Amino acid sequence: MRTGTSYFGNKFPEHAEKDFKNMKENGCSYVVLTFSENDFQYYTKNIAGLSQQAHCAGLEVHLDPWGVCGIFGGEAYTNFINTSFSSRQIDNRGRPLPVSCPNNPQTVDFLKSWITASRDCSADYIFWDEPHFYIPRWFGQKGDTWGCRCGHCKEKYFSIFKKDIPDKINDEVKSFQRASLFDFIKTVSEHASANGIKNSICLLPDIDNTLLWPEIAGIPAIESIGTDPYWDHLPNITENTIAEHVETFSRKIKDIAEKHGKRAHIWIQNFRIKKGDEKFITIACEAAFSRGIRDITAWSYMGTEAMSHLACEDPPKAWKTLTASYKKFNSPDHSSK
Ligand SMILES: [Zn+2]
Repeated sequence: MRTGTSYFGNKFPEHAEKDFKNMKENGCSYVVLTFSENDFQYYTKNIAGLSQQAHCAGLEVHLDPWGVCGIFGGEAYTNFINTSFSSRQIDNRGRPLPVSCPNNPQTVDFLKSWITASRDCSADYIFWDEPHFYIPRWFGQKGDTWGCRCGHCKEKYFSIFKKDIPDKINDEVKSFQRASLFDFIKTVSEHASANGIKNSICLLPDIDNTLLWPEIAGIPAIESIGTDPYWDHLPNITENTIAEHVETFSRKIKDIAEKHGKRAHIWIQNFRIKKGDEKFITIACEAAFSRGIRDITAWSYMGTEAMSHLACEDPPKAWKTLTASYKKFNSPDHSSK
């Protein structure tokens, strides 16, 4: 059984030491440290310090390109879109978008330099966090805007389909986006491997995106494939709908991982839990475990208290509830099941 949590919002080693000890005592085997573009520019030695503290506490260290290039998930901003303006995705109306294009060689080069810094921070794993093309709702936008129709994408599309990329999204464009994300993740994960770092990835739990899962699982450099079936956006949140939601995606990721000889992991929501709803955390953990998931991790440490936008209403209780499941799953009775 492997269990983890993400961690951000602190760069003081003495505070981190206390938090990592808390994680270890509560059954965690690894920590996912966010390593944003801002960290990469100004805090690399701090992140290396946190990584060292985590190792001393007996935790494996995963570094997360949090919001990097806008291609990965996370609330951190990208500055690369400003310093490398031409790396931006171009939408279907020809306008630049606030995220970089995975088909642009500048983006890939930037990620490679980020990997070098991660190696210098002694990362055991890179945790590739929700790679995606532009998602309008993440910017508070509605409508049919999509990317990318930049010069690199046009060229690549033509080389695959022998015709121009259309300005209306269709199944062919979606398959092109998947192929592009596959190529991008293959390139960066192989680069991480060549630098002695293992690779884990979380893919977004939406139905269109699941077509990408088997392809990513087939990349030799990827060791663990996961998804994050959080329930805060579900229209009807009940114990049953949460269990069903987590079970559906746990089963799917587990099947695909098994077929490719990879580990499967599931993220559990430890943010935006209302006071009194902490039981949902237990239900989600049990749902993942019941579907054979033996690597469970959570966003984020201590009920995400470090980010008011996402914090649980009773962060210590959310954390205590989560780690009660961790301790249960790690107990000898459970680990043999
Ligand atoms: Zn592009």
